[in-house]
Amino acid sequence: MPMRLYDTARKSVVPFEPGPVVRMYVCGITPYDSTHLGHAATYLTHDIVIRRLEDLGHTVEMVRNYTDIDDPLYAKAAAMGVGATELAESEIARFRGDMEALEMRPALAEPRVSTSIPEIVDAIEVLVKTDHTYQSDDGTVYFDVSTFERFGDLSGFTTDEMVALSRERGGTPDDPHQRHPLDFVLWKPSADGEHAWDTPWGPGRPGWHIECTAMVFTNLGTTIDLHGGGSDLVFPHHECEIAQSEAISGEPFARHWLHQGMVAYHGEKMSKSLGNLVFVSELVKQADPRSIRLAVLGHHYRAGFEWHDDEIGRGTDRLQRMVAAAGCLAGPDPAPYAEQMRAALDDDLDTPTALAVLDQFAGAILDPETGDHPGAAVTLAELAMIVGVDIHRPVRERA
Ligand SMILES: [Zn+2]
Repeated sequence: MPMRLYDTARKSVVPFEPGPVVRMYVCGITPYDSTHLGHAATYLTHDIVIRRLEDLGHTVEMVRNYTDIDDPLYAKAAAMGVGATELAESEIARFRGDMEALEMRPALAEPRVSTSIPEIVDAIEVLVKTDHTYQSDDGTVYFDVSTFERFGDLSGFTTDEMVALSRERGGTPDDPHQRHPLDFVLWKPSADGEHAWDTPWGPGRPGWHIECTAMVFTNLGTTIDLHGGGSDLVFPHHECEIAQSEAISGEPFARHWLHQGMVAYHGEKMSKSLGNLVFVSELVKQADPRSIRLAVLGHHYRAGFEWHDDEIGRGTDRLQRMVAAAGCLAGPDPAPYAEQMRAALDDDLDTPTALAVLDQFAGAILDPETGDHPGAAVTLAELAMIVGVDIHRPVRERA
């Protein structure tokens, strides 16, 4: 049985059967604020996909970008009275620390917008030459969505829904220069104090979406096996990525789309504006990062979930049980546990069930009555590594 994953584009759980080398792109962060639990959940979900694919014998090449040229980054830097580059550098360093603490599989490349401008300009040039764009009097270059018939297919939203979401999520549907509210910015003149690069369309900087197309093409090729991110990226970001990428290459952009549901905190959407973000850099001071991993993975990725402060304690209980079992010399027959655990992951990444199986297995190993298979703890350790948990290290209480 192959791995099965929900594909946002096909709107159903389908077999995911890539070749020996799997090319994956996950949209990264805009480095203007710390990594919060919503980001962590997205990257943990993709980390489990990578680890299970590696367990199946694949090589995975994952690329994750940094949007270090972006409206909210400039706004935050101005509000703090620091340079945008300086803010981006410090937040990228913090993000890397968070990813390392959570023991994420490393990316093949982590391109930044600021160092990808030639590729971005090349991509826009192709779109200009093939009549997918128009330029306004102020110098902004827009993608003309009327030139791409399948616009909206990924999300399945109506035009009205897309316009409303665009307004909410950084789009410019009310820009009077646009021919259609869903047209989007590829290149625009920079405001005072923003970075600017010279191009055939005048000095300026890229819009939000084009970077990911350029970075995918440069680092992974024109068609990738899996593209992922948070579900708030389905529209407009990923819809725009598909339009510009397929307009350039004439080939399918991604064979599979994976999206992480949103994380709420004590009943409310976790958001910057509500000021209720739970930061990874704070959580890792309170508990062993493996406990955080186990707590987040106790929720299925697709539905989105509500986070409660006491969940780390439950993650720690699980971790302690597995670490204790790792030292046992015998246990039950490991084969049924291994089969059930892998089957759960292959069933649309059912991490809650996979962790429950690990839990039962650890409990059975700790029970002296359950068997005399000498390899039980070795198998438990192997299975725990598929969810990124090394059970040979003692549990760290607090930083
Ligand atoms: Zn992206």
